[in-house]
Amino acid sequence: MTHPETHLPARTEEAVMREELARLSNPLALLSGFPPALEQAFELWLDARLRNLLRQYLWALVLLYAVLVAVSLIRVGYFTAEPWRSADMHMSLFKELVLAVTLGMLSLFMRTDIDVRRSRQLMVLVSVLLLVTLAIGMQAYQDPSNHLMGVINLWICATVIFATGLQLPRVCVVIAVLSIVLTILLCLVLGLQQGLAVFSLELFIVGVFLLSFACVMTGVHRQVFLQAGLLQKDKERLTELSEQLAELSLKDSLTGVANRRRFDELLEREWARLERHGSSLALLFIDADNFKAYNDHYGHQAGDDCLRALAFVLVDAGRRQGDLVARYGGEEFVLLLPDTDMAGALDAANRIRSFLAQAALPHAVVPSGRVTASIGVAVSHPGIRTAAELVAAADRALYRAKQSGRDRIEVEAVSA
Ligand code: GH3
Ligand code: MG
Ligand code: MG
Repeated sequence: MTHPETHLPARTEEAVMREELARLSNPLALLSGFPPALEQAFELWLDARLRNLLRQYLWALVLLYAVLVAVSLIRVGYFTAEPWRSADMHMSLFKELVLAVTLGMLSLFMRTDIDVRRSRQLMVLVSVLLLVTLAIGMQAYQDPSNHLMGVINLWICATVIFATGLQLPRVCVVIAVLSIVLTILLCLVLGLQQGLAVFSLELFIVGVFLLSFACVMTGVHRQVFLQAGLLQKDKERLTELSEQLAELSLKDSLTGVANRRRFDELLEREWARLERHGSSLALLFIDADNFKAYNDHYGHQAGDDCLRALAFVLVDAGRRQGDLVARYGGEEFVLLLPDTDMAGALDAANRIRSFLAQAALPHAVVPSGRVTASIGVAVSHPGIRTAAELVAAADRALYRAKQSGRDRIEVEAVSA
């Protein structure tokens, strides 16, 4: 079951939940309820939970009902004294009918998609109906021994209260309404003036029973709601962290571009796509020239800055959405260009060289006086059968660029 939204900022919401959970250790906290936004979310949550509970345990209520009907019929039919038997049997059947209606309403509640307020009202109505019947049933049997049935009836009442999870203020309303209705019914309709004292006592017992159950259930429901909410918050935080971690694990920490692992992954993916749909895939190997000398002259720190600047230039040179710049290792980068032919790949390589010239990063040790790079270019063609062969081809081209004097572009020669 998902936790309903409270529309509070996540941090505040969590703090409020923790506060309320601490407050719940005091039973008096049950009287006031949660702050409005949380209370609303709680109502929604409770509604879904009760529906689930009813859906799961309706069979138990039906079974209980069947047992009660059997016990009641046997008891009244066989063990009630002759003069009262017929009247008590009628009373018993009436009681079973109301119980059946109650069960019917419960299953209706479970199936229909009524809103929370309506479902609450329905549950209060069901409880009132049930309790009225039970109290009348306890009083109206002619045979005094049948009054014992009232004890069993209290158990049904407890079951329904458990199922409805009535909230404390509502229980008070139910009891008030119940007292008035029953008093009027018994005095006017049944004319049981002399039994009024006994009735009041029984009503009081039902009331206390109901209140204590409601207290426990309210507390339990609220606690579970808060704990489930806090658990969900923890889960969200963990998911967020693991997403951040997954992203970090694919990035090169020095330059911020993709790392080797990400490159390997994307290369495989692009290669598979290439095999399915044709098109072409270009790969550029870019290696900073005389970088060891740069480090020796300017220091490792400055070397790092230079690598970051180089990565920046490469990101600028890859223009399309799917283009990927990755640090392959050391001072060596790759640019992967999906759906790109040799002309497109050479454009990108030339852009890198001209951007580097514009950046004019000083390199005092080499004759040109600035940082340059050698670039090896390879593009997929029928002679290249795997992604690894494409990498090897670009690497060979880079090697040739280094061999023939650096600061240049070399292309993998395609053998027919
Ligand atoms: P070439 O033109 O043949 O590529 O010469 P090179 O000096 O660039 O190549 P070589 O492979 O001899 O040296 C690479 C240098 O790159 C050596 C190493 O210190 C430097 N390097 C590799 N990774 C890093 C890094 O993360 N930061 C810094 N500052 N330097 C690095
Ligand atoms: Mg180098
Ligand atoms: Mg190198």
